[in-house]
Amino acid sequence: MAVKLRALLLVLALSLVQPAAAGRKLLVFLLDGFRSDYISDEALESLPGFKEIVSRGVKVDYLTPDFPSLSYPNYYTLMTGRHCEVHQMIGNYMWDPSTNKSFDIGVNRDSLMPLWWNGSEPLWVTLTKAKRKVYMYYWPAGEGLPQPHLSHSASSRSGRADLAAIYHERIDVEGHHYGPSSPQRKDALKAVDTVLVYMTKWIQERELQDHLNVIIFSDHGMTDIFWMDKVIELNKYISLNDLQQVKDRGPVVSLWPAPGKHSEVYNKLRTVEHMTVYEKEAIPSRLYYKKGKFVSPLTLVADEGWFITENRDTLPFWMNSTGRREGWQHGWHGYDNELMDMRGIFLAFGPDFKSNFRAAPIRSVDVYNVMCNVTGIAPLPNNGSWSRVLCMLKGQASSAPSVRLSSCVLVSILLLLFV
Ligand SMILES: [Zn+2]
Repeated sequence: MAVKLRALLLVLALSLVQPAAAGRKLLVFLLDGFRSDYISDEALESLPGFKEIVSRGVKVDYLTPDFPSLSYPNYYTLMTGRHCEVHQMIGNYMWDPSTNKSFDIGVNRDSLMPLWWNGSEPLWVTLTKAKRKVYMYYWPAGEGLPQPHLSHSASSRSGRADLAAIYHERIDVEGHHYGPSSPQRKDALKAVDTVLVYMTKWIQERELQDHLNVIIFSDHGMTDIFWMDKVIELNKYISLNDLQQVKDRGPVVSLWPAPGKHSEVYNKLRTVEHMTVYEKEAIPSRLYYKKGKFVSPLTLVADEGWFITENRDTLPFWMNSTGRREGWQHGWHGYDNELMDMRGIFLAFGPDFKSNFRAAPIRSVDVYNVMCNVTGIAPLPNNGSWSRVLCMLKGQASSAPSVRLSSCVLVSILLLLFV
């Protein structure tokens, strides 16, 4: 996997080497499910790639995701600077009663329909409209929007790029399957670290450090779950026939009661322990969720570590080494976004960022303004706080000092070891 990522990186870097139309070039990594403490000071000691980036650039204490702390809502928050209730991508699974269309984590055909995506304009669309070239690899994007150059392979390289973005899901996948503290999750992170060692070296060797900004962030964290004894089965409390529609399982579940059944379903679910049932208007305002047009009449939110499902048969088992879908999941996310385990990361380095700078926590809505600033594009109205991110940027006038890599020998040895 590290080899594949390296090949991708090389392709991106080559397209970034050519002159940009305006502003500096930006390389973005979205590392799914990367919890903030995966790169604690202690963990960094065995992660030379990340450690190098931290010393050369900016590291925030943590990034608070938007609610729900799931991927699609936060992909869009990161790329628009808007809360979920504003950009409308409120879940990995959504339903629109007026058209009877479903969004099922981007895999069904209807997930590509503009209705899910056109609530706000993401950065790549704004850049594309401004005739700036954008390359996105494995990045989820819908139809009905001006498209970036999307690719699932490293073969479609051409002249120049202003923004190149890579989405990587392995850390999230291993965190789900084996848990956030598992050796498998740690191995996935080490593979990314190896790529970063290679990347910083590559940038340095070609003296691109004054021309290229790199931003690395995640969409959310991960927490341990316990299917053996922390499962909430809805069929124990209500008749599933009283529901018109159910979307998603786990920390946040959306329910549309059948006509005439709202009060009965609501009152029965209020007695269930380890979760909260909200009518739409009663969802706390601090979650910036309830005004979303796809929010269901009833929203269930589990306590941390608990998993809501219709019944045990509908638990999302995965295909482990037995080849049958019977593997337990040991990690999940989507819970209250203020919980410590839901926190993600934000790192950045390059000519527009301070070096060796530890910044206070930021929120996923804040990242958009940073990306707009360093690509030289005017941000659209958004919910991000400029004051939370201003501290990490250098003054526009100052030029970046050339940073010498002190670990070239180490780099070479690591490459020999890991490739
Ligand atoms: Zn996930």
